[in-house]
Amino acid sequence: MMSWRRWCARSVTVNGNSVRGCLRVAQSWDDGVVDDVRLTGLLRRYQATATFNLNPGLYQDHRSFGWRHGDREVWRLGRSELVDVYAGFEIANHSLTHPYLPDLSPEALDWEIRESRRLLQDWFQQPVRGFCYPFGGVSPTVKEAVRAAGHVYARVTDNQQSGFPPADPFEFGPFCRFDDPAFWTLYETAKAEQGMFCFWGHSYELIDEPLWADLEHKIAGISADPAADWVNLETLWPAAR
Ligand SMILES: [Zn+2]
Repeated sequence: MMSWRRWCARSVTVNGNSVRGCLRVAQSWDDGVVDDVRLTGLLRRYQATATFNLNPGLYQDHRSFGWRHGDREVWRLGRSELVDVYAGFEIANHSLTHPYLPDLSPEALDWEIRESRRLLQDWFQQPVRGFCYPFGGVSPTVKEAVRAAGHVYARVTDNQQSGFPPADPFEFGPFCRFDDPAFWTLYETAKAEQGMFCFWGHSYELIDEPLWADLEHKIAGISADPAADWVNLETLWPAAR
């Protein structure tokens, strides 16, 4: 973790004054749905990085109905548009078809993890080093299969209260959801204490314009914060450097 401490000790200059710049900010979005088109557009406007956790076994050539979220239909993106929608963003593995992994046989578990990673790397032509457990489902067996398949970290869905880095890179918990009422308090606490902040969600949860406006306000605020830098999650783990 020495490189981490060195990074935190750097300073930035704001209005002629030296300020401690010490916050890496990451975001992690799940499931790869049509609402990601608007989300990635918003993020690009503010030069914000993000990690998208995808299930390559669930895409058809064209957009397809996924499920209902409240009174809205959630649609999956089409296979043919994925590379354009996510250009420039980190892609992470969310398993092939989004099952609850602890329930699978060893063979099915291995297939869900390895085949998914193989497809994602092939489609996006980038290394896939991150994993996100579907439904947050994890066990020692699942964790070992994810590690053995070549990933360097895995994200759970429980928000982490114990700081960063986590004791186990394969049980990395983000700090909060994008719409957490305590978002900015947690952000400032992370800046003072951990030097890293990660929030997560699903773009289909952005069900109205006030929610989109609130997210844009957050993205803009972080991009304008001279003490913060957007990072891809995969860069946070020593094994990936
Ligand atoms: Zn999911």
